[in-house]
Amino acid sequence: MLTSAATIDAVPAISSPIVPSLVGMTRSEIASALEAADVSPREVRMRAAQIWHWIYHRGVTDFAAMTNIGKPLRAVLEERFSLARPEIVTQQISTDGTRKWLIRLPPRADDTRPHEVEAVYIPEADRGTLCVSSQVGCTLACTFCHTGTQTLVRNLTSAEIVAQLVIARDAIGDWPGMERSKEGLVPDAERAVTNIVFMGMGEPLYNLDGVKAAIEVMSDGEGLSLSRRRITVSTSGVVPEIERLGAESGPMLAISLHATRDDLRNKLVPLNKKYDIKTLLEACRAYPGVSNARRITFEYVMLKGVNDSDAEARELVRLLKGIPAKINLIPFNPWPGTQYECSDWERIEAFSEIVFRAGYASPVRTPRGRDILAACGQLKSATERLRARARLAAE
Ligand code: SAH
Ligand code: SF4
Repeated sequence: MLTSAATIDAVPAISSPIVPSLVGMTRSEIASALEAADVSPREVRMRAAQIWHWIYHRGVTDFAAMTNIGKPLRAVLEERFSLARPEIVTQQISTDGTRKWLIRLPPRADDTRPHEVEAVYIPEADRGTLCVSSQVGCTLACTFCHTGTQTLVRNLTSAEIVAQLVIARDAIGDWPGMERSKEGLVPDAERAVTNIVFMGMGEPLYNLDGVKAAIEVMSDGEGLSLSRRRITVSTSGVVPEIERLGAESGPMLAISLHATRDDLRNKLVPLNKKYDIKTLLEACRAYPGVSNARRITFEYVMLKGVNDSDAEARELVRLLKGIPAKINLIPFNPWPGTQYECSDWERIEAFSEIVFRAGYASPVRTPRGRDILAACGQLKSATERLRARARLAAE
């Protein structure tokens, strides 16, 4: 199933999470956990701050490493909690350094079904971007997106979102004092993961509470320390939640536009029937904090013969007039059974030239990790196909 260019290996879970894991928890969740473990109320704040530092600043996987916490309390922590991360089912590394992890979420009291989500790491010259998932599957069924064909859907908890960053930093060796893994990482940056994009599986604004809490943890200066300006939430256009995202959390915003006319966008992004292009762009104009230094990214997937004409490029530029914007043209990533094809390269260049002449710099997103299908629900489907084949072979 893989091209020879990529490697794949299973990584066993650090430990099985029979007791609750503190990894991924918010500050107040850690404090509540300590209270429940009978840590004295006077101590809870200080202990929670220490544990926070060890988990999110240092990336430790063992309570024994928490040297400023006395042995008796460490023993209590060991008995009641773990520092387990969700299991990595597969890790794939592309020849261009892109990495993709399929992650198995442990069962929870309220949902005992097993679930898998994916995260992708994309190293570039000046940054390393981690693409995280916010839901298992997606209810929105955009016609060009494979995630939208998956029937099983649930929101990830904030802990499950944060765990994707922790897992990525573990796998890359991106914690202080660790030796970094060498393949294709950001050359000179102090850290390997410098940016987060919510562009994996799911619609983040249908899980706004989980996403907000995860951003809170990821951007905390005493822990993972990623500035909100380096965290981007991508939405297909859940208009009422866009304002809330801006007011209550304040990350960068990306909009999956993909069409310049409502009749076409209704087909590609069915949510457009509820919130049309005009309403969506009004919400963008009103997004708190938007300025030339903090532009909104508009994503536009290039679909052959569907949305890729010169006239549509001109219309795109016209529509976005007055909004501090970046335009991101995404070559369509085909998946088995799709009705669409990616636009020809010459077409993408012609389209991008019009956008470029209107003042938007270098708008085509270079396809990354093509040899490992590093986009949009494809690893999960490939793994499912392999399993189906294995089942058939066993029958
Ligand atoms: N649900 C959110 C975020 C996840 S999708 C959203 O729709 O914005 C992240 C981006 O990938 C979106 O712009 C989405 O439209 C795009 N995308 C989905 N399937 C794709 C495919 N097969 N090829 C290229 N881009 C795709
Ligand atoms: Fe969901 Fe985004 Fe895919 Fe649409 S493009 S189905 S909103 S994940």
